[in-house]
Amino acid sequence: MLPIPVMQQIQEEFLDYRGMGASVIEISHRSKEFDEVINRCDELIRELARLPENYQILYTHGGARMQFSAVPMNLLPLKPAHKAVYSETGNFSKQANVEAARFGEVVIASSGETTNYHRLPPLTRDMVPDDASYAYITSNNTIYGTQYQAFPELGDIPLVVDATSDIFSRPVDFSSLGLVFASLQKNLGPAGTALVIIRDDLMGHAMEKTPSLLDYTVYAKSHSLSNTNNTFAIYTMCLVMEWLKNQGGVEAMDKANTEKANTLYQVIDDSDFFKGTAYKEDRSVMNVTFTLSDDALTQQFLAEALENSLYALKGHRLVGGIRASIYNAMPLEGCQALAAFMQEFERTNG
Ligand SMILES: *Cc1c(COP(=O)(O)O)cnc(C)c1O
Repeated sequence: MLPIPVMQQIQEEFLDYRGMGASVIEISHRSKEFDEVINRCDELIRELARLPENYQILYTHGGARMQFSAVPMNLLPLKPAHKAVYSETGNFSKQANVEAARFGEVVIASSGETTNYHRLPPLTRDMVPDDASYAYITSNNTIYGTQYQAFPELGDIPLVVDATSDIFSRPVDFSSLGLVFASLQKNLGPAGTALVIIRDDLMGHAMEKTPSLLDYTVYAKSHSLSNTNNTFAIYTMCLVMEWLKNQGGVEAMDKANTEKANTLYQVIDDSDFFKGTAYKEDRSVMNVTFTLSDDALTQQFLAEALENSLYALKGHRLVGGIRASIYNAMPLEGCQALAAFMQEFERTNG
């Protein structure tokens, strides 16, 4: 979801951006007007995330999965062993470590596989070899509905976080992290572009054969404009960040998201009819996953939900069941409507 006011503003200024007589997607990425957009976006990210000075903001091509390759290509050479540690907490972290293994040695230091990824395995400094260039986690596991409540503390080992599905949903201490990336399409804007936040000292180490459009230094030196970037995605993200600021920033988002998620978890916890899939301590405020007793009932639930204007509740094809994705732009009313529908469905079918 995108916030409605953001989409309305896009609609209003789409044909004529700020009196230029042209659309924002028609003007040059090197124009002063677009420069204002990208500068404003940087400024809002810095302010809302309380980003320390020694972190760079990059806008990169190819969504999150391109970063699955960019991260190892840029960071593995930090140490001679070209080794990286991954915590396997679901589908996306698996795909990420497969990509990394093309370029160096991957150590799966912890895995949630034995518990069907319904809980997050611990990752502590003693599990990370000293010669590892970085350690990698997925902060929110979109498919399984798990989310780190606190990030692993790994001291000298830079922590890389795929925050695609929970970026700016809650306050995060960026100074404790090495690199955070997120494709825009869950909390920030259109698909196909990713935001990368990286500590200065992790830059400038890319493998020699790294394509320039995957090299963080190239992005940093050109303000992410070494070629024509996706100006529409950056412009939309800028509007989303303005919206986030107007909502009261990440602290207010955190409060609202917690209330939204609790509205649904309460129904699940009070019921024997719905079963939450994620382990309680690890469950996500962005993706609420649960199951019904059998497949026929699940299908019926989905069909009746649709009739009640409750969309996109089908669980990911890998796991089935139900998944309510309640990203930043989802209002509390959406969760309340689903909670009421669930209770009614249980009353008539339980
Ligand atoms: C959606 C998602 C991705 C995939 O993003 P793309 O932009 O489609 O590559 C990666 N990681 C996480 C955690 C996601 O939720």
